[in-house]
Amino acid sequence: MASSLYFPATSATSDTAGFLLPGRRHCHPAVQLRTTQRFRVRSSLDTNVSDMSTNAPKGLFPPEPEHYRGPKLKVAIIGAGLAGMSTAVELLDQGHEVDIYESRSFIGGKVGSFVDKRGNHIEMGLHVFFGCYNNLFRLLKKVGAEQNLLVKDHTHTFVNKGSQIGELDFRFPIGAPLHGINAFFTTNQLKTYDKARNAVALALSPVVRALVDPEGAMRVIRNLDSISFSDWFLSKGGTRTSIQRMWDPVAYALGFIDCDNISARCMLTIFSLFATKTEASLLRMLKGSPDVYLSGPIRKYIIDKGGRFHLRWGCREILYDRSADGETYVTGIAMSKATSKKTVKADAYVAACDVPGIKRLVPPQWREWEFFDNIYKLVGVPVVTVQLRYNGWVTELQDLERSRQLRQAAGLDNLLYTPDADFSCFADLALTSPEDYYIEGQGSLLQCVLTPGDPYMPLPNDEIIKRVSKQVLALFPSSQGLEVTWSSVVKIGQSLYREAPGKDPFRPDQKTPVRNFFLAGSYTKQDYIDSMEGATLSGRQASAYICDAGEDLVTLRKNLAAMESQELIQAANITDELSLV
Ligand SMILES: Cc1cc2nc3c(=O)[nH]c(=O)nc-3n(C[C@H](O)[C@H](O)[C@H](O)COP(=O)(O)OP(=O)(O)OC[C@H]3O[C@@H](n4cnc5c(N)ncnc54)[C@H](O)[C@@H]3O)c2cc1C
Repeated sequence: MASSLYFPATSATSDTAGFLLPGRRHCHPAVQLRTTQRFRVRSSLDTNVSDMSTNAPKGLFPPEPEHYRGPKLKVAIIGAGLAGMSTAVELLDQGHEVDIYESRSFIGGKVGSFVDKRGNHIEMGLHVFFGCYNNLFRLLKKVGAEQNLLVKDHTHTFVNKGSQIGELDFRFPIGAPLHGINAFFTTNQLKTYDKARNAVALALSPVVRALVDPEGAMRVIRNLDSISFSDWFLSKGGTRTSIQRMWDPVAYALGFIDCDNISARCMLTIFSLFATKTEASLLRMLKGSPDVYLSGPIRKYIIDKGGRFHLRWGCREILYDRSADGETYVTGIAMSKATSKKTVKADAYVAACDVPGIKRLVPPQWREWEFFDNIYKLVGVPVVTVQLRYNGWVTELQDLERSRQLRQAAGLDNLLYTPDADFSCFADLALTSPEDYYIEGQGSLLQCVLTPGDPYMPLPNDEIIKRVSKQVLALFPSSQGLEVTWSSVVKIGQSLYREAPGKDPFRPDQKTPVRNFFLAGSYTKQDYIDSMEGATLSGRQASAYICDAGEDLVTLRKNLAAMESQELIQAANITDELSLV
């Protein structure tokens, strides 16, 4: 039984030397848990969501906005992804009136999910929350959803062929940067020689500067956008094996492209946070589906504050005009829902779309501006997400009997990376996000992210499922004999923007050359990578620009109203003259 969806442009033991450190045992999850409790990091999202905002780049951790004292604005937002909803929350908190238009039947965009006819939650993709997601955590606290994330063991787990488990283990009694140094020195995912070269490369990176001068380090990191991570890493002494065994899966998980194709900026931004902030590398996952535990509470907050969602209302066209002095302004947005059509008018318009969405929306004439034309130099990366439900516990490596029973969940409860499959990262959602995914009498629900997605896009679902389940078996030979009882495939033609070298300068700011038209979206200019955190941050930035322009936007509204009534009077005069003839 399989579901399918296509979104177009929208403690294992190892006997292999090198994988195990002498004297170090791989732990069963239960044992790992005990270790974590000894080396506890702060994991609640309460007041000081970590040490993140102290001694950190301001771009990533903006201060709280000042209370808005200007005129109330009517704002129309196109797109109900995280960026659109983050913009809405910020604007509503400042007292504005907000309407959100979403062409799909569900909210959340790339982190959305919905329930199919058989009651299965279908996700757009596997989502993991890094501990440095300050802006997103702030949003979750605002909407009362801070309890909806489950903290995982503070270790990054790599599953290699034959169930050899490698770890980058950040559990250490002392925090950053020592916990990171320890993680890299003790990782069993790399052999000694690669580890030493890895250490040299990281020691020569701006990450070290970030410890004392985060703004300066961020500037250096931004300037490294023009080269690939591989070029940077190899030039600093890192090895190809480190890239293949450790960094490629991480790069794929971050940007759906490998180290040869991802910009050094993208990877080093994350590294600098991991190195300097104890909790940045701590992973969290939602208790259950995004619709219930992420978008749901945000939607409720928005509605409670008077915001309105208009689902299945897609924006077809941005209507605009030019004044005598050559200034361009939006006069309305043309919306449609099935056969219904309407024009929406507001004081400010925010396009919080994905990359293919914004490309379709920008009026061709606006491409005269380099600002808008640059957007067309960004492309979306295809990605395919596969869910496989089993009649047993695939990642349970300790106890074969436990893996075959269906009374209790068993296995690895964390995000899992792999260098040995076409999916770079995956998780057993029945363990990581049990509220919606653990079902009594059923086993693992693996969610696997196929990267690069390109070769899988044209394949029929049966073939994709066949290939993925075969690769799962190669990673977990002990799952031989378990059956896939249900599966789903979600293809996204253009997902994240391709964070390739040299692309960062083409990301548009949230403030545009058109006075009453703003952008939001994870692809827009912000210091984080294309992610949930980036989307949330972009929304905060868009809202700040709109509030800054409050008075100006009201002046424009009055001018437009005056011009419209003038036009109406002229039209009436013409009609009179005609009727006289
Ligand atoms: C498979 C997958 C796994 C991921 N994993 C992670 C992860 O682990 N951690 C992480 O931080 N990030 C992850 N991401 C990235 C994250 O999901 C995105 O960066 C983020 O959700 C983008 O939010 P957004 O609001 O900018 O864009 P979107 O979520 O794409 O929202 C844009 C919205 O605009 C709507 N829209 C577009 N055009 C129109 C129009 N004309 N009219 C009306 N509506 C329109 C779209 O339908 C959509 O709902 C993942 C993404 C994918 C695809």
